[in-house]
Amino acid sequence: MFPEFTLRYARFPEHFHVRFDPVPVKAPRLVAFNRPLAEELGFDLSAFDEVQATEWFAGNRVPEGAAPLAQAYAGHQFGHFNPRLGDGRAVLLGEVTDRDGRLRDIQLKGAGCTPFSRGGDGRAPLGPVLREYLISEAMQVLGVPTTRALAAVTTGERVIRDVPVPGAVLTRVASSHLRIGTFQYFAARGDNDALRQLADHAIERHFPTLADIETPGKRYLALFEAVLARQAALVAKWMGLGFIHGVMNTDNASIAGETIDYGPCAFMERYDPATVFSSIDEGGRYAYTNQPWIAQWNLARFAETLLPLIDDDQQRAIDSATEVLKTYTALYEAEWLAVLRAKLGLGETAASRDEADRELADSLLEAMQAGRADFTLTFRRLCDAAEGDAHDHELLALFERSEPIQAWLAEWRQRLVQEDAEAGEIAQQMRAVNPAYIPRNHRVEEALAAAIDDQDFGPFERLMAVLARPFEERPEDADYAQPAPSTARVFRTFCGT
Ligand code: AMP
Ligand code: MG
Ligand code: MG
Repeated sequence: MFPEFTLRYARFPEHFHVRFDPVPVKAPRLVAFNRPLAEELGFDLSAFDEVQATEWFAGNRVPEGAAPLAQAYAGHQFGHFNPRLGDGRAVLLGEVTDRDGRLRDIQLKGAGCTPFSRGGDGRAPLGPVLREYLISEAMQVLGVPTTRALAAVTTGERVIRDVPVPGAVLTRVASSHLRIGTFQYFAARGDNDALRQLADHAIERHFPTLADIETPGKRYLALFEAVLARQAALVAKWMGLGFIHGVMNTDNASIAGETIDYGPCAFMERYDPATVFSSIDEGGRYAYTNQPWIAQWNLARFAETLLPLIDDDQQRAIDSATEVLKTYTALYEAEWLAVLRAKLGLGETAASRDEADRELADSLLEAMQAGRADFTLTFRRLCDAAEGDAHDHELLALFERSEPIQAWLAEWRQRLVQEDAEAGEIAQQMRAVNPAYIPRNHRVEEALAAAIDDQDFGPFERLMAVLARPFEERPEDADYAQPAPSTARVFRTFCGT
């Protein structure tokens, strides 16, 4: 039933990882399994055996052909460099080749203490496991590159956080677990051979066309450029959904450009660019509005690791990497404008229109901030407004002050007239990018609480089902589209890792 492993990372020299078998748990129970993803990965589900699957996903049995290991990496955490982080509780079983021929990592998160655990217990509580499961799968359907969730298992053991809580293991799937922090690990040790191997692997796996660039220095500079482009596109997508990652440390920045490591992440409700949810982000370093610039800061750290590969002359290496780094702003702004245009039903037009469209979008955001309007619902109601003014009252009701949004609507409609597409077509396109349903914090908390307190996975499954079709409004799910009532508003999210 388990697809065949194509071991790749295990073949790297010893200092890249530590061979490590997951530590068995007492009484595993499979509480979530992602069948479509399993099929995509090449699992033979006709032979699905729940007992066997439970053992695998709990780490109680290592599937045949796997060579479990903990990966070494470093990272800047809230701006402070730690030269040795590594998988403190995650174990990479190996890679499999998916139906599209792409290598995918299969990792167990919460699999026990590894040599990188640094005083941690190597385990994961059920809450964060279900949270990652829900949100990463929601992100996937929302069109955001992300790691995936294949399975969740409860362990029958308790883990101690502030209080004892049920333990769990998440099976995470990623295009790779290469992080900026993986490069930093070797850069900090001055290990240029390892850096080169890592860079070659990243190119082979994520940017194969770059392998054709003959001059090595140019090839590695192109790797930097490619990673930079993916990060710019990724963060623009987050911003378009009001997603706040919460822990944009360099060890949580994927070279493949996927959203990785869902900790205290959350979706913003009322639009406020300064929004921070994470309880550990005291300075607001990873606030919504800072995310694009934090990504650039992380990319600068990535570039530093590549300098020895880019040019023997380090000043020249710095100059060429800096040139690339400087392109980030324009690239990000272009991605963000594309996201905003799609959300507003505006087609790509002549570059001469860029500034005016950006101003139009910015003034909507200002009106939303002034009116304390719900980010997701505003855009969703704008889809109706593209077709006419019959439902304008529903849009206006989202704003505490309606004059600015009324003025803005008039301006936007004038702009829409210049589009070639028909109003109905524009509205339809807008509905395909502006979700009605996002993982609202109070719904996520509610689903987690039922699972943790009552072993009731009903609310989790129901929320998963709602989030599986986010772009199609359903009367029976209307409650899930609503922001938290004032009594249940979530202001802080906790790592609880
Ligand atoms: P994160 O905050 O999840 O990105 O993790 C940062 C670092 O802490 C990584 O090296 C993790 O492997 C490690 N870590 C997080 N939680 C635990 C835990 N419960 N036990 C051991 N290591 C952990
Ligand atoms: Mg991490
Ligand atoms: Mg984490």
